[in-house]
Amino acid sequence: MAISYKPQLKHKEFQDLTDQIRFLSAEGKIWLGEQRMLLMAVSAMGAFRREMVNSMGVERAKGFFLRLGYQSGLKDAELARKLRPHCDEIDIFLAGPQLHALKGMVNVIPIQVDLDQETGSFYAEMEWVDSFEVEICQTELGKMDQPACWALLGYACAYTSSFMGREIIFRETSCRGCGDEKCLILGKPAEQWDDAKEFARYFKADPIIEELYDLQSQVSSLRSSLEKQQGQYYGIGQSASYNKVCKMIDKAAMGKVSVLLLGETGVGKEVIARSVHLRSERADGPFVAVNCAAIPPDLIEAELFGVEKGAFTGANQSRPGRFERAHKGTIFLDEVVELTPRAQASLLRVLQEGEFERVGDHQTRPVNVRIIAATNESLAEAVEAGKFRADLYYRLNVFPVQIPPLRERIEDLPILAEHFLRKFEAEYNKHTLGLSDKALEMCLRYRWPGNIRELENVIERGVILTDNNETISQDALFAVFPDSEFHQTSPQSLEFIDDSGQVVAEDYPSAESHWAESIICNNISLDKVEATLMQRAMEMANQNVSEAARILGLTRPALAYRLKKSGIL
Ligand SMILES: [Zn+2]
Repeated sequence: MAISYKPQLKHKEFQDLTDQIRFLSAEGKIWLGEQRMLLMAVSAMGAFRREMVNSMGVERAKGFFLRLGYQSGLKDAELARKLRPHCDEIDIFLAGPQLHALKGMVNVIPIQVDLDQETGSFYAEMEWVDSFEVEICQTELGKMDQPACWALLGYACAYTSSFMGREIIFRETSCRGCGDEKCLILGKPAEQWDDAKEFARYFKADPIIEELYDLQSQVSSLRSSLEKQQGQYYGIGQSASYNKVCKMIDKAAMGKVSVLLLGETGVGKEVIARSVHLRSERADGPFVAVNCAAIPPDLIEAELFGVEKGAFTGANQSRPGRFERAHKGTIFLDEVVELTPRAQASLLRVLQEGEFERVGDHQTRPVNVRIIAATNESLAEAVEAGKFRADLYYRLNVFPVQIPPLRERIEDLPILAEHFLRKFEAEYNKHTLGLSDKALEMCLRYRWPGNIRELENVIERGVILTDNNETISQDALFAVFPDSEFHQTSPQSLEFIDDSGQVVAEDYPSAESHWAESIICNNISLDKVEATLMQRAMEMANQNVSEAARILGLTRPALAYRLKKSGIL
């Protein structure tokens, strides 16, 4: 049976609901039927709402309050069914708006309600007067730019859906919270709304913590790629010697000449080469790095210049070499001294003519590539030894840049270590408390024969061996302490606490060897040394043998015997 309801809500008709309220202040409880209720200040709710909006944004806060109202609506639908079992459908339904009013949330004026539980048809228009949420907007949040009666709306949706046994959605078509004249709501079955799916999303709790974790990992991956880019761009360092290199590569980058990077192994030549590329006009072109020492000599030509099908056994397909792939970009040839004589000849031709041929091919191909070569051996020596072509050496050596070893820019070590720490912590998903002071001191004294690459490996080892939230100790960094690789610190006295709790200074063994040396150099005999020590101890002990024995770490009889023997007593 379809019921159409158009009259005004009769206020006195919900005594049955009012009777459900019990105040048991002695027990600290308020009941509505079987629901424990709270009497709560609207202003407190308002402050809470403002905090929610400010901390998680309007959309998320709206979801929270819609769901808050939703839970309450479900409970009240249950209560309505229980209290009005024999009433008309419409009277049972109206328990919802009445409960809303009874709780002090809003005065509901039904304008039109058409419902039929049997067929499931539902249509309702109502006005909300004196919504507590509008009041909150007025006092706490200011005018909103969308309807603001969120908890009320959640309540209406849940109550009606539960009542009708199907999903009914209410929307606020106008709201005083956003400056409209009235708060008006319209309710109909979900499928009659075009954006029902979108709206339903508000009712699904979407745990913010997941999103936070998500964002956190996004931030850390962005940060590490940013660091990578920065690292690629310039490498890391602030020392004067490193700055000098940076200025050099700035100049090199602008020009078109070949660059020759010199320096020990592990000083970061590829990072520098990439910097030259990225700071040049070719930055948008490819950067191709080749370690000439890592490719077998008989394959190096094919690798660099490509190969034509059938050129040799195994060459089943034509393929371009690294030079073709670096066209309009930069090629970085590390360990260039390892090139075979034939590869050297081809490289010279690229430098002179800007052309090459694939292995097994007769077609000449033009190529536009900037060459950055690197070596940790002396090319000049290789030329002298007949291992490297002199003409190629002169071609490559137009703009040499010497990259200092880590030990000559040791003041850069802390920021380099920090950089690698962050890198490996992200990689191993760990958080350490950084290097211990002792470990850092050890790093600063170490000679780093493997340079930055060695530092990178050492820090990786440290991160692997250190537990979460612990400090990286020197043992985690260095498995063994190769004494020869550490700079000697100047002799100084170490302070320690003695048995009596006094801070005393202890000379380094090196200080001991120092006086021993002067005794030997001055031709002082062992007997004379012993006699002098005993005499001095006897003086300090006021000729008391027991006391002098203690000073010298001997027993009294042992000292007495020696004193007699040397004729002091
Ligand atoms: Zn409103």
